[in-house]
Amino acid sequence: MSLHARKIRMIMNLRRAGLTDGAVLNAIERVPRELFVLDHFHDQAYEDQALPISHGQTISQPQIVAMMTEALEVRKNHKVLEIGTGSGYQAAVLSKLCRRVYTIERYKSLLAEAEQRFHHLRLHNITSRCGDGSKGWPEQAPFDRIIVTAAAAEIPQTLADQLAIGGIMVIPVGPERGEQVLVKLVKNEDGSLASKIIADVRFVPLVAGALPEGEARTAARRAEN
Ligand code: SAH
Repeated sequence: MSLHARKIRMIMNLRRAGLTDGAVLNAIERVPRELFVLDHFHDQAYEDQALPISHGQTISQPQIVAMMTEALEVRKNHKVLEIGTGSGYQAAVLSKLCRRVYTIERYKSLLAEAEQRFHHLRLHNITSRCGDGSKGWPEQAPFDRIIVTAAAAEIPQTLADQLAIGGIMVIPVGPERGEQVLVKLVKNEDGSLASKIIADVRFVPLVAGALPEGEARTAARRAEN
């Protein structure tokens, strides 16, 4: 079966699973997921499964990407913050739906690969940077929407602070190997947050703090040369 046929089958399966937002499905259809997975997983790019990327991280299952994007209720004029760029796939899908995506990844090499994909696909409304996403992007706050694609032990207050009034945040919450739930938060007029659990999920953890040593060393060596 061709990749195109597999993609159409995937979209049909998303519809069948109740993910029926036309704009979201259209965005998913326009992003070639095979370019975001490792070469030897090309054939599986349109199966409904998470796939490994480097550094022990994963690109989320299409159904989860669709569910999170739908829950985010993204509009054309929105400024969206994503924490956990990973392969860049979720950011690419969002870029088709909003004005600008700001995305943060803690691994330099993952970010560099994602940036190449954005460039290759001419996704010019994505701005990215390397760092600890749990601190958000204060210079660009407030954001209409915030999506976190790694599981947080609890909702980071800093991110909640960077959400606009009436804004929506979608974030997996729970311990690394325990039960995690996908939470949708809406910021009320008075700044308080209304929350709703959407689904049970499994994400890699949101790791706060400095880069892992190996990466930091490689980065330092590169800077010396
Ligand atoms: N959205 C990605 C998948 C994310 S996997 C995609 O579409 O492919 C989760 C990512 O979050 C990993 O790449 C991991 O390195 C990153 N991450 C974990 N903690 C982070 C933090 N504090 N700041 C930024 N990125 C983080």
